[in-house]
Amino acid sequence: MIILVTGGCGFIGSALIRYLLANTKVSIINLDKLSYAANPQALAQVPQSTRYQFIQGDICDAALLQQIFLQYQPDAVMHLAAESHVDRSINAAEAFINSNITGSFVLLEQARQYWQQQSAKAQRSFRFLHVSTDEVYGDLACSSAAPFTEQSPYAPSSPYAASKAASDHLARAWHRTYGLPVIISHSSNNYGPWQHAEKLIPNTIHKALSGQPIPVYGNGRQIRDWLYVDDHASALYKVLTKGVVGETYNIGGNNEQKNIDVVQAICSLLDELNPKHSPLNPKHSSLITHVTDRPGHDLRYAVNTSKITHELGWQPQQSFDTGLRNTVQWYLQQNGALNMGS
Ligand code: NAD
Repeated sequence: MIILVTGGCGFIGSALIRYLLANTKVSIINLDKLSYAANPQALAQVPQSTRYQFIQGDICDAALLQQIFLQYQPDAVMHLAAESHVDRSINAAEAFINSNITGSFVLLEQARQYWQQQSAKAQRSFRFLHVSTDEVYGDLACSSAAPFTEQSPYAPSSPYAASKAASDHLARAWHRTYGLPVIISHSSNNYGPWQHAEKLIPNTIHKALSGQPIPVYGNGRQIRDWLYVDDHASALYKVLTKGVVGETYNIGGNNEQKNIDVVQAICSLLDELNPKHSPLNPKHSSLITHVTDRPGHDLRYAVNTSKITHELGWQPQQSFDTGLRNTVQWYLQQNGALNMGS
């Protein structure tokens, strides 16, 4: 099986590629434009093998995509390339419209043209997995409301979520109108090694380690479900290989946490794991600083994962305690390596 992965140098894409190379026999073409969010170092340990090929390029480039489909003849696409940071989408939405909506359109269209030229057998087995987010469902404002299911209506709040929702609609339309074998997944917040420093968990760790104020939006009571990134990678492969064409699958960690509790938990882990190296030994939590809330900030996201659990037999392996400990330990090792190198 040859899989075209888009956005494979990003946080989740690189975890997915490491997972696929370690746990399956698939071959991978990784198409990534290497935006500010990309980190090729996350794939530095990937063995040089005939199973992995990197191509630097943009999913908005139709000619490049056409050439990749013809040259590599992929059996599947796992589409992760996107602008992914909500704050950036609020400050400058255009890049999100370009990559997330136009880019997804160009990719779907090139996939369709390629797919339509395949044999009937190859057409039946081809898959296009569109990787989306739980943020398209919008705000689950009440803390006692039932988590979102795959039937929940779309109500995106941020430009990021709206651009992802738009791309979901395109993917669904390319299935319904042209028959392209599309599956859509909606994951909750991911965390783990190699996440960009702008996101909540790595940002908290970096700020705490350098003795800077740790910003928390508003009162910090926003609730997110947290999924360890390697669990997301295994879920994506499960959905790709066992999911039903035309269906949608929620993927979550069953780990709802308030932002302030996540930040406090990281500070406690740093107090335990890094007491000597902290400028404010030993209470990192004294750095927590509440800042003006993000405009349109959703209070709660949570997904009901019974469909992927019962129909595909997938479950996350990491609890929030083990996943967060792994993550903090990993960033501490990275930090140590950086300090030794500087
Ligand atoms: P990321 O920002 O870490 O990585 C995105 C990658 O896509 C980068 O390597 C970037 O260079 C590449 N890219 C962006 N635009 C491109 C373009 N036009 N052409 C080619 N490459 C391009 O993002 P992530 O956190 O790894 O998220 C991956 C996917 O998963 C996204 O589609 C995102 O919406 C979705 N998702 C993320 C989360 C999360 O918590 N991070 C949760 C649910 C869903």
